[in-house]
Amino acid sequence: MTVLVTGGAGFLGSHLCERLLNEGHEVLCVDNFFTGSKRNIAHLLSNPDFELLRHDVTFPLSLEVDQIYNLACPASPVHYQNDPVQTFKTNVHGAINVLDLAKRLNAKIFQASTSEVYGDPEIHPQPESYWGKVNSIGVRSCYDEGKRSAETLFFDYHRQYKLDIKVARIFNTYGPRMHPNDGRVVSNFIVQALQGIDITIYGEGYQTRSFCYVDDLIDGFISLMSSPDNVTGPMNLGNPGEFTIRELAERVISLTGSNSKLIFKPLPQDDPKQRQPDISYAKCTLGWEPQIDLDTGLLKTIEYFDHLFASK
Ligand code: NAD
Ligand code: UDP
Repeated sequence: MTVLVTGGAGFLGSHLCERLLNEGHEVLCVDNFFTGSKRNIAHLLSNPDFELLRHDVTFPLSLEVDQIYNLACPASPVHYQNDPVQTFKTNVHGAINVLDLAKRLNAKIFQASTSEVYGDPEIHPQPESYWGKVNSIGVRSCYDEGKRSAETLFFDYHRQYKLDIKVARIFNTYGPRMHPNDGRVVSNFIVQALQGIDITIYGEGYQTRSFCYVDDLIDGFISLMSSPDNVTGPMNLGNPGEFTIRELAERVISLTGSNSKLIFKPLPQDDPKQRQPDISYAKCTLGWEPQIDLDTGLLKTIEYFDHLFASK
């Protein structure tokens, strides 16, 4: 099959492109390099089954493919808040453009949604049936409400045009090929620890997140995409292991053997206090659950950044 991956030069997209090529597909990677990088896909460029197209998904796409994964959108709060209007456009105009393409081609389409649709949740852990607590006018809203609107569009295209959709709600995922300046917590802490500079904890660090290693997540993507047509999602994909941000910092310090000290900075507006996926639906429908624990995944990620800095 020929598979389109929007946002294919980003962190998750590059792993997905690689996985699809390994499974024998032709891959068309579309990216505008807003947060993605050519370095992430440099090793794929010589593969005759891989093609790269620089394009912004807020403009229509005219392509011939069999399946679509829509990942285009900056995922780090620092980057998506840098140009909130473009973030919202990417989520909404981008979704309309890829959905129109899928409709014309009658192609199955996957949406990279997010745990952010639950906002600052009052129910813990979060099942897919929870509608969320989201501020519609805050600094995170361009992303949260953009992703919620994209889900609406996906389900309307499904109901109205019988489009075959797969919507995954992704919880915090980390691993090699995160950008060193990405701004998300795992890459920030590892980069700070390796450079021996202060580790920046926002707030008191008692907020929680659940961290999934990238390989586990990509297994979940492939498994959801291959599931029967009546499995549309939304489906939580993430690792249910829950940690405070302080615990994460301590683990990174211990695994890197760093002398970095913790420093405390103001908590960003609307920062969710807790987050943990209920993955019962994915477990019983796909038989999927993460295999890689936090320490193992952190060690692989530390090794990646270590090599990256050594090569510079
Ligand atoms: P990323 O920032 O590394 O990758 C996003 C990619 O999309 C980048 O290559 C970027 O250049 C590209 N992009 C952005 N706007 C675009 C546009 N208008 N047109 C074309 N390309 C565009 O982020 P990621 O972590 O790889 O996330 C990928 C997807 O998964 C995103 O949709 C994100 O919202 C979703 N997601 C990720 C996580 C996570 O923890 N990594 C969690 C929840 C949801
Ligand atoms: N965070 C932090 N220090 C950092 C980066 C992030 O303490 O250098 C915190 C952030 O405030 C949030 C959590 O870590 O509570 C996860 O942040 P991230 O940006 O990775 O993802 P999200 O908030 O979207 O879950």
